[in-house]
Amino acid sequence: MKNQLEELAVLGGKPFFARPLHVGSPNLGDRRRLMTRIEDLLNRRWFTNNGPFVREFEQRVAYLVNVRNCVAMCNATKGLELVARALGLHGEVIIPSFTFVATAHALQWQQITPIFCDVDATSHNIDPDCVERMITPKTTGIIGVHVWGRPCNTERLAEIATRRGLTLLFDAAHAFSCTRGGRMIGGFGAAEVFSFHATKFFNTFEGGAVVTNDDALARKLRLMNNFGFSGYDNVIYLGTNGKMNEVCAAMGLTNLECLEDFVETNRRNYRAYRQNLAGVSGVTVIEYDETERCNYQYIVLEIDEKQAGVSRDTLMHLLHAENVLARRYFYPGCHGMEPYHSDFPHWELLLPNTRRLCSRVLSLPNGQAIGESQIQEICSLIKFVLGLSLREKGRLKEVVGAEEPEAVLV
Ligand SMILES: *Cc1c(COP(=O)(O)O)cnc(C)c1O
Repeated sequence: MKNQLEELAVLGGKPFFARPLHVGSPNLGDRRRLMTRIEDLLNRRWFTNNGPFVREFEQRVAYLVNVRNCVAMCNATKGLELVARALGLHGEVIIPSFTFVATAHALQWQQITPIFCDVDATSHNIDPDCVERMITPKTTGIIGVHVWGRPCNTERLAEIATRRGLTLLFDAAHAFSCTRGGRMIGGFGAAEVFSFHATKFFNTFEGGAVVTNDDALARKLRLMNNFGFSGYDNVIYLGTNGKMNEVCAAMGLTNLECLEDFVETNRRNYRAYRQNLAGVSGVTVIEYDETERCNYQYIVLEIDEKQAGVSRDTLMHLLHAENVLARRYFYPGCHGMEPYHSDFPHWELLLPNTRRLCSRVLSLPNGQAIGESQIQEICSLIKFVLGLSLREKGRLKEVVGAEEPEAVLV
């Protein structure tokens, strides 16, 4: 517990945590079961190309999220690219700017122009009214992103897509094992794409999956995913290589067995953060709807600089010095990144809620790597900083600003 200004690491004190606490530190199920599976696949000498673990993994994921087809992929970005291409998206596709840059890059990589749409200030998800306003004669689709695993307004997006003749997809990278209205994420839109990257709630080291109830789409994705091969030497389609390998599927099968433990750990941590930060002026912890199934993976604070007396950036740098590597996802928003920023520098005029969120949001560590006592300590640090006098806060801002000019300039 720190209670003197000079004890803060930015002012020369010892970092509170001896080792860095990361956001997105990987979850791992039963290590011995993983090792047994790896022995199996080594003995089989079947390492990739639709092996038994990949097929079993696809079946289990499809069953879990209640869809007809699951196509396992090497990552979600490739999944987004393939599904956009398989569904013939072209021209313009509307996405939120408040997302991981892969949502935009997957489109741009296919020469499709991502059109950035603003988000709702409360849900942080794509705003359907804004979607309608961004539709042009060139628009062919909408990709909703279930940010933080909190589902988009799927009903309104589906209504707009149907009425305007657009394809609706979901980037469900955050939302594996979540529900909307009791329905598992995975079955909404023409297809949904999960990420199983190491930093996500559930991981396969790296990996992803496209899930869909459209059998023809799934067949096409399988062809695309494997160079267009339909038999040993029969290429019938322009394909690429987006396959998941057996060792990733072995990790996936192992982690699926511990899914409920991951949820429980995250939920316990989430409640501890909310309890410890309740009533702290200037800090809100985003809420999950506990009547739905959630994975509680993202602990997201919104910092109101006026009330807190310190900016999100100052707080982040103070925490980093203490070895709490909090992240400002998705700063500065896709629209502020290249090539999108140079293509259209005026994007931010259209995105007031996105800009506001990008200056306020701070993600904190969650998952198996963190426990109740560390959460208490992280929250005590935050409360200590927010409880300082205005003069002291001013001094911290100067110190942090001098050390990290990038933070105050951008
Ligand atoms: C992580 C993430 C991706 C990319 O996933 P990969 O599996 O790393 O390619 C895409 N979209 C969102 C919203 C993400 O968070």
